[in-house]
Amino acid sequence: MTKLELKNIRHSFGSNSVLNAINLTLSEGEFITILGPSGSGKSTLFNIIGGLLIPTSGSVLLEGQDITGSKGHVAYMPQSPSLMPWRTVDENIQLGREIKGQVDRARMDDLLQRSGFADIKDQYPDSLSGGMKQRVSFLRALNTPGELMLLDEPFSALDEITRIDMQRWLKEILEVEKRTILMITHSIDEAIKLSDKIVVLEGKPATIHQAIDVRYISETAEITLKQQLLELLR
Ligand code: ADP
Ligand code: MG
Repeated sequence: MTKLELKNIRHSFGSNSVLNAINLTLSEGEFITILGPSGSGKSTLFNIIGGLLIPTSGSVLLEGQDITGSKGHVAYMPQSPSLMPWRTVDENIQLGREIKGQVDRARMDDLLQRSGFADIKDQYPDSLSGGMKQRVSFLRALNTPGELMLLDEPFSALDEITRIDMQRWLKEILEVEKRTILMITHSIDEAIKLSDKIVVLEGKPATIHQAIDVRYISETAEITLKQQLLELLR
C-alpha cells in the first residue's frame, strides 16, 4: 500500500528556486533515506511534508488523501532532541500518545523493556548522555500512533561510536515496530546500513537525481555505490 506520495513538488523562496518537480512514493513499511548536498532543500522538503510550508506547486498525499499544507500527520524527529526537562524519560516518550488521548501503558512498558529504558524510565533528561537523549527523542516519535516518521539528520550530533550503537539499536527496534520512515542524513554508510532505498537530490533547483534500492546490495556493488555517492555529494 502507498503511504506517502509527493506529486510534482516545486518550491521557491522568492527568487530562490529550491525544489523542482519532486516525485516520490513511499510504500507502507518502507525506509527511504534522502542524501543531498547541504542547502539542496532537504529540510524544506520535510517542512512541506509536515505541512509547515505550503509548496509553490504540487501536492502531498498521505494514504491517498491530500494533506498539502496541513499539520499533525507526521511524527517528526529533529536534529537536536528537544526533550522536556521537567518530564521524566517515561513522560517524554508518552507525549506522542498523550496529545492524541491514546495512552497505552502496556504498550509503553513493552517498548521501554525492548529499548533498554525500563530501569531509567523515571530519570530526567538532564541526567542522560547525548546518545541516550536522542534515543528518547526517537522513541517519542515512534510512540506517536500510526504515523509516518520524518527524521532530519537524527544522529549527526553524535560521535562515531555512539552513532554506530544507535544505528544497531534502531534496527532492532524497527524489526518489531515496522514504520514508514523518511530520513535525511549526510552519512552514506548510515543510508546504506539503515534504509531500503536511497534518494539523491541534486542540482539547483534540486530534483531527484537517482533512487537506488540498497536492500540486497552486494559488497562489491556497495563499494562502487559509495564512491559514486561521494562524487555526487561533493
Ligand atoms: P538542506 O536541508 O538540504 O541543507 P534547506 O532546505 O535548509 O537545505 O535550504 C535550502 C535552501 O532554501 C537554502 O538556499 C536556504 O537558504 C533556503 N531556505 C530555507 N528555508 C528558508 C526560509 N524559511 N526562507 C528563505 N529561504 C529559505
Ligand atoms: Mg537541513
